Amino acid sequence: MIRIDPTKLVNIQADFQNFIKNKDSKYNSKFQKFNTLLEKVFNEEDNSLIEKIIFADHTTMENYIKKYKNYLRTNNHDFISIETLCKKENEPTNILKELLELYNYYKTFLDRWNYQIVKELNINTCCYCNRESVLVFNKDKKEMTTAEMDHFYPRSLYPFLSISIFNLIPSCKTCNSKLKGDLDTGDMNKSIIYPYEDSFNDKAKFKLNIEKSNFYEKENGFNLQLEILNNNKKAKRTKDLFKLEELYQNHKDIVLELIQKEYIYNDSYTDEIFKNYEGTLFKNKEDLQRLITCGYVEDKDLHKRPLSKLIKDISKELDVI
Ligand SMILES: [Zn+2]
Repeated sequence: MIRIDPTKLVNIQADFQNFIKNKDSKYNSKFQKFNTLLEKVFNEEDNSLIEKIIFADHTTMENYIKKYKNYLRTNNHDFISIETLCKKENEPTNILKELLELYNYYKTFLDRWNYQIVKELNINTCCYCNRESVLVFNKDKKEMTTAEMDHFYPRSLYPFLSISIFNLIPSCKTCNSKLKGDLDTGDMNKSIIYPYEDSFNDKAKFKLNIEKSNFYEKENGFNLQLEILNNNKKAKRTKDLFKLEELYQNHKDIVLELIQKEYIYNDSYTDEIFKNYEGTLFKNKEDLQRLITCGYVEDKDLHKRPLSKLIKDISKELDVI
């Protein structure tokens, strides 16, 4: 789990704001309709409610989640996916039908914003696993991304958050489609780390469990453990949901190389390399550390390359860096 910086989306926010407010746009009447819908659901009179929801931060999203659950309860609707709810009710109310429309409206934005979000955030890996890379590219002049956009709070359960920018998390197919699905992260007992706010940096750490004396030459000589620090519940649920400890066992070859590097790059050897190439090949010690470990080792840079968190933690444990 890596942290992404919400302030990097400031340009997208401005773009989106123009998009909503453009009176000539065919979308303008649509947003007005959604605004009226949300006013009814949340019992609030506010011309800019739709904007509030689209640009909602974590706390604001959670407040509206509570209000939405309250709306369903008071109107005797089950808290289930909006599609299922509309099918289940013999004659779904207009509000439910419009919520279903809002749930599907996300597709209008897929092409327009997904590429932009990954590009502006300037990340190269899935926010949840830091295993898979996510990239942007062009195909026939069309801007595309390899990332899937996960709705942190599932749009099926919270259709009003389907186009909220800070509910969109660039992720890989395994994390988004195969593992997370529609898990109700809005439930306190199921909530996980929210990447626009937090990360594994001080909450979880990869560790080496040496099992056999041949650990430095064979992958079956050790196991990888993802240790949760200070009994952090959200970190533990994040680790379990994305099967991180299990999936990372597939990267033991990288760890084996780090164990071997520990023997090769002792302190005097690395000092010598640095002395010889400082100012030419390396700007600073961190450049040399990256060359040795093949990963970014500063917390702020972990998003730049897959597996960097694993490489950083194990390199520190082994004293390679
Ligand atoms: Zn992933």
